[in-house]
Amino acid sequence: MSYAIPAPAVPTVAVVGGDPFPVRRIYCVGRNYAAHAREMGHDPSREAPFFFMKPADAVVASGSTIPYPSQTSDYQHEIELVVALDKGGKNVSVEQALELVFGYAVGLDMTRRDLQAVAKKMGRPWDLSKGFDQSAPCGPLLPAADAGDLSKGAIWVKVNGEFRQQGDLSDLIWSVAETISYLSGMVELFPGDLIYTGTPDGVGPVVKGDHLQGHVDGLPGLDITIS
Ligand code: MN
Repeated sequence: MSYAIPAPAVPTVAVVGGDPFPVRRIYCVGRNYAAHAREMGHDPSREAPFFFMKPADAVVASGSTIPYPSQTSDYQHEIELVVALDKGGKNVSVEQALELVFGYAVGLDMTRRDLQAVAKKMGRPWDLSKGFDQSAPCGPLLPAADAGDLSKGAIWVKVNGEFRQQGDLSDLIWSVAETISYLSGMVELFPGDLIYTGTPDGVGPVVKGDHLQGHVDGLPGLDITIS
């Protein structure tokens, strides 16, 4: 195949012990931990899961230094469990959903919170508050076969060595399987899709020079520096 211009590179995420994972789409779940829903001013008990997206080339590898983004003065971290799919499907049942999973990683859903607040107030899309350049740091994927039980376990992020968010995967409102199942009823899923599964409470701002360390029990860590 020849193209009118050189084809853009395929964005990838590192894989523990294997070749890089090519990213097709990045789906993100909003408000999937009750305490975070409350801190953002919502009642966590009544909402079906909702989703937004980031472009595939927003992924950033662990160890990267990323620039403080433009057009914000409230750039915030959201630590999240990331799920990578190597099978697709439509209307996948909860019981079958985990069969689509290739592996898991630690991710950060970086957010221009001030732009998101304006978007919410004005009823505008979230795209540029959530899906901007380098907004999706993602650590190495651990293949599902090597990952332990991720229905529970600590999830946290430290900034400059101090805890900022500390949660537990058992507090997810919608489990990984439920999230995949629900999302597959909205769109057809394909190999290469990533799902950021939502963040616990304690989101907050970072500044230039900050060093973020993301953690989920049993997964490779995520290290990002803001320049
Ligand atoms: Mn998030």
